[in-house]
Amino acid sequence: MATAQTARIHPGTCGGTYGGTYSGTLPGRIEVITGPMFSGKSEELIRRLKRAQIAKRRVACFKPDLDVRYNRTAIASHSAQTLDAVTIANVEELKAVLLPRLDEIEVVGVDEAQFLEASLVKLANELVHLGKRVILAGLDTTFTGEPFPPIPELLAIADEVVKLSAVCMQCGAPAIHTQRLGSNQALVVVGAAGVYEARCRACFQPWVDEHATEQMALPVSARG
Ligand code: ADP
Ligand code: MG
Ligand code: ZN
Repeated sequence: MATAQTARIHPGTCGGTYGGTYSGTLPGRIEVITGPMFSGKSEELIRRLKRAQIAKRRVACFKPDLDVRYNRTAIASHSAQTLDAVTIANVEELKAVLLPRLDEIEVVGVDEAQFLEASLVKLANELVHLGKRVILAGLDTTFTGEPFPPIPELLAIADEVVKLSAVCMQCGAPAIHTQRLGSNQALVVVGAAGVYEARCRACFQPWVDEHATEQMALPVSARG
């Protein structure tokens, strides 16, 4: 089988994602699936990777070892869909597993990409230049409502971005936020039922420092 670098799609043949007329060297592709918790990111990642397998593409799937809530050797959705995955501690470990097998792999999937370091951006760029299809799923914002690195940078370099919404658990509207419930405010607590819920912009209550003893004075220009 041709390697990804030399694979060609001939004019008039079905080029899958690339349409039917592309005649150059098959380029790689970065796809980012993002949104709040419960928006279906893992479901969508699993759907894409399973379709790639049906198309006889060789797929490797990874997830950070922080996310072992359902399964250590698979990615899993809240709707109990699963796909075999290699659990990795960080980007270095991902590279150590992936790079020796790179000739055999055409599609690389990563779930919960927000738990990996900024060097994931460089790795995604390297893989795409080698002709790989890279599909990354991850939260775009933290429970404080701020961008969750390195997802924003991945969005910027992606060929395709899919931003999914969940259903607000307060009012039923489309939800873009992940609400942390209770008092545990550590950034990396992987979702267990009752710890997070999806919320719309109106119902979201970003974390405030309940332990702050003094109110910060407003700048003069901001006073009424
Ligand atoms: P993510 O990876 O974005 O956290 P999953 O793919 O794991 O999402 O799960 C999506 C599934 O979660 C939905 O198909 C639905 O069955 C379930 N679900 C539970 N709560 C919600 C919610 N508030 N909004 C949408 N889907 C929800
Ligand atoms: Mg998920
Ligand atoms: Zn709402």
